[in-house]
Amino acid sequence: MPSATTSAPTMKKDHEKIWDRCLEVIKDNVSEQSFRTWFAPVKALRLADHVLTIQVPSQFFYEWLEEHYIGLLKKIIRKELGTEGRLEYSIIMENNAHNSHPYTVKVPTSNVRETRNSAVPLPADLSQSPIKNPFIIPGLKKVMIESNLNKNYSFDNYIEGDCNRLARSAGYAVSSKPGGTSFNPLLLFGGVGLGKTHLANAIGIEIKKNHPDKSVLYVPAEKFTQQFIEAVKNNSVNDFSQFYQMVDVLIIDDVQFLAGKEKTQDVFFHIFNHLHQAGRQVVLTSDKAPVEMAGMEQRLLSRFKWGLSADLQTPSLETRIAILDKKMYAEGIDLPKEVVEYLAYSITTNIRELEGAMISLIAQSSLNKKAVTLDLAKQMIDKFVKNTAREVSIDYIQKVVCDYFDPPIELLKSKTRKREVVQARQIAMYFAKKMTKSSLANIGAHCGGKDHATVLHACRTVNNLQETDKQFRGYLDDLEKKLSIH
Ligand code: ADP
Ligand code: MG
Repeated sequence: MPSATTSAPTMKKDHEKIWDRCLEVIKDNVSEQSFRTWFAPVKALRLADHVLTIQVPSQFFYEWLEEHYIGLLKKIIRKELGTEGRLEYSIIMENNAHNSHPYTVKVPTSNVRETRNSAVPLPADLSQSPIKNPFIIPGLKKVMIESNLNKNYSFDNYIEGDCNRLARSAGYAVSSKPGGTSFNPLLLFGGVGLGKTHLANAIGIEIKKNHPDKSVLYVPAEKFTQQFIEAVKNNSVNDFSQFYQMVDVLIIDDVQFLAGKEKTQDVFFHIFNHLHQAGRQVVLTSDKAPVEMAGMEQRLLSRFKWGLSADLQTPSLETRIAILDKKMYAEGIDLPKEVVEYLAYSITTNIRELEGAMISLIAQSSLNKKAVTLDLAKQMIDKFVKNTAREVSIDYIQKVVCDYFDPPIELLKSKTRKREVVQARQIAMYFAKKMTKSSLANIGAHCGGKDHATVLHACRTVNNLQETDKQFRGYLDDLEKKLSIH
């Protein structure tokens, strides 16, 4: 296997070619959206003395890359340029408002520089993770296991909501008494981007905090499978099983990945039994409920049910806003409230996409040196967020109508018959009928618990007024503009 240190001399390579190769690897390791946002705008400037200089559009880009992609960049630079390799940023800066020519400053990154005694040896090939995960410290009986937990995914920044209450509290209970609750295994399941990986890591982190002596191991099922295949090849299946049987807490992420892989399921079955009998904790995540996991052996499925299966549901509007607020705080960014609300209203079913949209928005604004406004948010949502159901929601319509006419949204949702509220409510019903696929009954339920006949009446009233009252038609036109996302 070619290793990083033996790669060909780097001086002859052209900086653009090198950066292109880096981009190839980056593409495989980050989401399409992140790639477009953070790497597509980056240019390679030069290569000298093992230092590759890349130009980034703003200080913000530089900071973001350093904070979020430094690990990846480090590996790639090392692979391309050898152990001497370094990366330097050149930031395009706006000198002042009158000067449209950007100038660049150099930011050397000490981070990217190789450290001789780095603790964890990096795999030469990114796609292959080392199977010899544990390293045994001579003279110590206890085997040290690198837990592979993502320290950014803690309970502290996991927002609680109705959508995750059971799963979160079960996870919390497991963290204080791993193996000692009836939640063993704890199976967390739910759709993509709803926080399974985050919660699974939070449990691991919390266990390490409460029980520093316990060994915790987080492993995606995909990696587990790769390791197993590798072990079969190397005739070391026994080592493989023994290693896994040694841990106190085993967290397997995306266990649905094992579906249809009989041999891997088989070895996992034995590991599971061993751990369970020994009173060790097993935490699993899956994007499907156990009953829907086709291709999974019955005996495994029945074991999954021994403990607790807790699902993660789509978060409510309030939870989505709270998650965005928390994320902004963590990243040290600040967006206008209306923008945050707009994002939370528009993206409802996937927290990863929601966060991704927010970050893209900031990147966009930094790239074009424009302030983040509601308009920019609307444009960006169109461009960047694909495949997201973006039918305007009744909630959003109510909010826009209330902002426009002033009655508090609680009143609009209440049964009150005050005239100014009644009219706003009718207009909200009219737009809900026009712009969503909701049934009349559902619209009524959202608007003060009215029945379908009331909604129908509201739509007729609004239509009539629109034909006869010019000012009223003006209101509707305004609102329609505000409501249409395009
Ligand atoms: P899954 O594994 O279910 O696909 P992740 O755990 O990767 O989802 O979550 C996607 C993103 O959403 C992550 O950035 C995660 O931090 C964030 N996230 C999910 N749920 C929450 C929550 N309750 N509070 C804060 N952030 C969350
Ligand atoms: Mg996940």
